[in-house]
Formats: sequence, structure tokens, C-alpha cells
Amino acid sequence: MVQAKKALAKKTRATSTKTQTENYKNYIGGKWVPSRGGDRIENRNPADTRDIIGRFPLSTEADVDAAVAAAAEAFDGWRLTPAPRRAEILFRAGEILMRDKEKYTRDMTREMGKVLKEAGGDVQEAIDCTYYAAGEGRRLHGFTTPAEMPDKFAMCVRQPVGLCGLITPWNFPMAIPSWKLMPALVCGNTVVIKPAEDTPISTYNLIKACEEAGVPPGVVNLVTGYGETVGARISSHPSLRLISFTGSTETGRTVAYACAERNAICSLEMGGKNAIIVMDDADVDNAVEGAVWGAFGTSGQRCTASSRLIVHKKVYKKFSAKLVERAQQLRVGNGADPKVDVGPVINADAVEKIMRYIDIGENEDGATRACGGNQLKKGDYAHGYFIEPTVFTDVTPDMRIAQEEIFGPVTSVIPTKSLDEAIEIANGVRYGLSAAIYTQDVNRAFHAMNETYTGIFYINSATIGAEVHLPFGGTKGTGNGHREAGTQVLDIFSEWKSIYVDYSGKLQRAQIDNKKAIG
Ligand code: NAD
Repeated sequence: MVQAKKALAKKTRATSTKTQTENYKNYIGGKWVPSRGGDRIENRNPADTRDIIGRFPLSTEADVDAAVAAAAEAFDGWRLTPAPRRAEILFRAGEILMRDKEKYTRDMTREMGKVLKEAGGDVQEAIDCTYYAAGEGRRLHGFTTPAEMPDKFAMCVRQPVGLCGLITPWNFPMAIPSWKLMPALVCGNTVVIKPAEDTPISTYNLIKACEEAGVPPGVVNLVTGYGETVGARISSHPSLRLISFTGSTETGRTVAYACAERNAICSLEMGGKNAIIVMDDADVDNAVEGAVWGAFGTSGQRCTASSRLIVHKKVYKKFSAKLVERAQQLRVGNGADPKVDVGPVINADAVEKIMRYIDIGENEDGATRACGGNQLKKGDYAHGYFIEPTVFTDVTPDMRIAQEEIFGPVTSVIPTKSLDEAIEIANGVRYGLSAAIYTQDVNRAFHAMNETYTGIFYINSATIGAEVHLPFGGTKGTGNGHREAGTQVLDIFSEWKSIYVDYSGKLQRAQIDNKKAIG
């Protein structure tokens, strides 16, 4: 895959003078600059690969180093800017994102493929996150607590971490960068951000909004390019105190190793294999709607996608039949067409991976392909990456399609005989991001909520649909204990300092003076 991308980059350089396609730049130290290496990557529309959206710098390690140097230069000025002033700038960025939401939405659908409504939701999430982070500028609460000695005062304050490297995936190309960038900035950090190579324009738009809002030069630096070069250099750069990564579990592990080498803080948001449990007392129609939205929204390319549907035997047939009927009604096509329900998948590698899993499901696992399963190649589909919404039934929990993250429009229906068995199946994967239950029984709902080992849980709703003021993240292979969003994200992007003020005018020794001996 890397080879293919490198070949494409070379081809791009050779042909770059022949067309009018815009050449975008990196943003380093407040200036828009080309990569020092001069190469570029093409950003193409996954619904029609003849449509070249732009060419972005295929950056080198030297570009990352320059961006880190700019972030270092800007750090003191930014951290010493009072947090409420930093927040005012972020608030202005929120206003700009709001103003240009429609354009950003269209750009996102064009570069990533998700349908306009969902792309609008992605931009809205970035807006929400920006306003929310701006609100934190007047809070960033620390705390006071009684000291154990007389005439002594104890308190805790948040301090910025320092220089942060942010590495993001392509499936939420504006929301996820904003989830990292805005809290990092309000906490007083400076950053270097690298978007996924497939979706640079949405992050470019976000950074443009920051520039227009008045974020000072060097506080935010954008470097585009491949993970193996730019991402790897960010992960291992000795001056970056913190790396915040969202992407696959495999890449996350590589990033974590690089951070461990130099004792950098590392926050990871990774893969998922999320389950909806449907009990025999569920509103089946509502559960089917939730499953369709959870499994096929964003063409199944969500970390929280409902890729496993664990259904009680008493409603299994009815649920499966309705699900297949609804999946077959979904219109696949270019996400820019408002009549389309399911857009393309991101690129040729994704098609290859998803089709391989469909083959595994049918021919190795022995599940029943109840609908879909084909790549669409004819007519309007000829130049894009389209796959039919696919439902597998008669799936058992140990099958590969029920264990591994497919990240495409494919879902598996697994029969179960009881709630406890369903919970065991839900927990029986290496990931722990999100889970859901459909039931009318409050006891069952609370039991499942308590027993599923995930970071997110929904009752009578699909596994997707996070709100920015609640913590987001997962257990096991999904994360490493941190949470983004909510006020919890501040714990990633700030460090606690404990402060003691002794106003007794004499030496007081903690744990030693002012203690009565026991007995
Ligand atoms: P990916 O791991 O391939 O890439 C993510 C980012 O890492 C990209 O910017 C990429 O260029 C970079 N990268 C690649 N190799 C690198 C390396 N060696 N060093 C440093 N950086 C490197 O993931 P993807 O395909 O972009 O995204 C899909 C994955 O992301 C799925 O597994 C999905 O579940 C996960 N995801 C998780 C969340 C979450 O919050 N838990 C949210 C969205 C997506």
C-alpha cells in the first residue's frame, strides 16, 4: 500500500504542471509553505477518483522538525496568554466554522465520501467542540483542599503539557482534529497536527479558521503527509511532550512504543467492534432502525459502528428479515447527492480489505450472506469505491467477521438465548469502545449497562452518536485509559501542579510535626 502511494506521489509530481488543481501548503510558524522535499499527494474524491480535490505536501521529517521548532518558539507567548483570552480566540474560530459550515461540509463529502447530512454533522461536532473548549477558558478549574498542618494552604492548578503532536484518521476528518486541537489550545499548549493522507482538506479548513480567528503564529502547525514519515517523526520527536493519536489499534501500538522510548505522554483512541444487544421484549422496528444507522452510517467506517447485532432467538428471524429488507432499500452512491443513504468507502485498500472480509465471512467462517456483499462497479459507480450494505446472519461469536474490525458497510447478526450470554458475547472481543441494548425492561437495561466493559453505552439507541460534553473513549484494545471530550480531555492536555503555602512562619514537617503518637 505504501509502495502504491509512493508511486502515486511520484506520478503526481510528474504531472503537476498540466492541470489547474490547487496546490495546498503546510502551515508552519504562521506561514503557508511547501514541503521542503517538494513532493505532493493528490487528494481524490472516493466517489469519483477522476475528481482531484487538491495536491497536498508530501512532507518530510525536516518539515516536522521545522513545525516543532515553530511550536517551541510560540509556546511561552501562548501559555502566558490568560486562558480566557485564548478562549476568546477559539470562540472566534467557532464563529468562522459556523459561518462556513456549508462549504466545509461539501469539501468533506468530496474528500471523504460520507453523505452531506453526516458531513454536516461532522463539521457541527467541530463547531460544538470549539465552543465547548472556548467555554473552558473561564473554568479550567483547579481545586483547594485542607492542608494537614495549621497555617498552611493547599491547592492544585492545571498547567499546559507543552508541545503536542496530534495524529488523526480520515473517518471524522474535521471532528476528530477539533477534539484534540481545541482542548490542547485552551490549555495553553502549542501543536503540530498531521491529518490522514486521504482527508487533508478538512483539517486544512480547520486550521484556516484558527488562522483567521487570530491564533498567533506557531501555536498551530499543520504538516500533511504519510504516517510512515510524518506520523513516525511526530511520534518520536524528542521535543513533543505529548502525542494524541486516533486511528487503528496496530498503528496506535507503534505510536505508543515511540512515546515509551522517550517517556512522552501518549493518548490513544483506537478501533472498535461494537455490539447492539436486541432482547425479546425490544421494539424491533426501532432496533432495526438503530442497527441500520449504526452499521451503515458513514458506510460502516466509524470506530463506534454497530458491526455486531446480538439478537435474542425469539425475535431473531423477525429482526433479521426486517434488517435485510431495510439494508436493501438503502441507496448507495455519491454522498453529494441528497437522495443517497450510503456513500463510498475511503479508498482502494479499503475496498480490498472489506471484500476480503466478505469472502472470509461466507467461505471461511461459513456465515450466511443475507444481502449485499458486492462491489458496485458499473455506470455511475465505475470511478468510485462502492460496496453494497451487507448483512451476515447465522454468525457465531468466534467467527472472524464477529471478532475483527472490518470498517465497512458489513454487519453480523448473532443469535443468543439470554441476556447474560449476550453480554458475554458483547464483551468477548479485543475492543471496548461502545455497546447498546434494546429492551423495554429497566432491570435488563441497567444490568447490561453495568456489565458491558466499554467506554460508552446506549439504551434503546445504536452504538454511535457521541456528544462533545461527555467523555469519549474505550477500554481494552480501544484505548489506553484516557478520554477525549468532556472536561476529562483537560486531563490529557494539562498536568496538575500541587502547591503548598506555609504561612506559619516556622518549619512545619508534613507527616512528622503536629502528629500524636498512636496510643
Ligand atoms: P490508521 O491507523 O491507518 O491511521 C491513523 C493516522 O495514523 C493517520 O494520520 C496515519 O497517517 C497515521 N499513521 C500511519 N502510520 C503511522 C506511523 N507508523 N506512525 C505514526 N502515525 C502513523 O487509521 P485510519 O485508517 O486512518 O483510521 C481508521 C481506524 O481509526 C479504525 O481502526 C477506527 O476504529 C479508528 N478510529 C478510532 C476512533 C476512536 O475514537 N476510538 C475514532 C475514529 C477512528
